[in-house]
Amino acid sequence: MPGSTVKTEAVVLRSIRYGEADRILHLYSKTRGRIGAIAKGARKPKSRFGGRLEPFFRLDLVLHEGRGDLLTVTGVTTVDGYPRLRSSGPALSAGARACDAVLRLLDSAEANPPAYNLLCRYLALLDDPAAERAAGLETALAFRLKLALVAGFVPELASCARCGEAEHLVGFSGAAGGVVCAGCEGDAFPLSEEAHGFMVAALAQPLSEAPAAESLALRQVERAVGETLEHHAHVQLRAAA
Ligand SMILES: [Zn+2]
Repeated sequence: MPGSTVKTEAVVLRSIRYGEADRILHLYSKTRGRIGAIAKGARKPKSRFGGRLEPFFRLDLVLHEGRGDLLTVTGVTTVDGYPRLRSSGPALSAGARACDAVLRLLDSAEANPPAYNLLCRYLALLDDPAAERAAGLETALAFRLKLALVAGFVPELASCARCGEAEHLVGFSGAAGGVVCAGCEGDAFPLSEEAHGFMVAALAQPLSEAPAAESLALRQVERAVGETLEHHAHVQLRAAA
């Protein structure tokens, strides 16, 4: 068979039924970024792939790369199936939003190990019975901020994104890509100190220690991240909760 063999670890972001018994997979891999693959016969009752080719599964894959756009899955073993995540509605919903954000924001075939590790870390946290806040909005927004960071679109938070002023930062501008001062407000929306503080702390702390904040501040954070990605990555994310 012409072509080559690719071995990589990957998370299933999306799994689509295809034809009589196949599946098309959107994967985020550790070593090659985004991969599109086909698993032939995956929906047959006795398929050797079992039920592993479903969203959130973290897999060790063997793929065949031929001339087409899609690689062909030839071997698969489970690294983690996150069974507790799958049995909780809020965790499933948070995991689905995370996979959707990765699908929209990271579409290149270049490896981005921090992005891969961040996604796995969040799925593991959603699967952890001791991590009670993992499926909440604070952790979802901390994930988005960190994802924006590893994708190269982190908002400027230390000083005015337009003039560099470090004091009187009162607004946020997606076009400017960060916080702005009173003199540069222009197209900005008002950003509370609490929302600003949340973003700084969420980026500095582990995902498991996402800071707490009131819902008004969290809405501002979601808008700030969303508008930054719209202006600079040309990507629109789904609502965070
Ligand atoms: Zn300014």
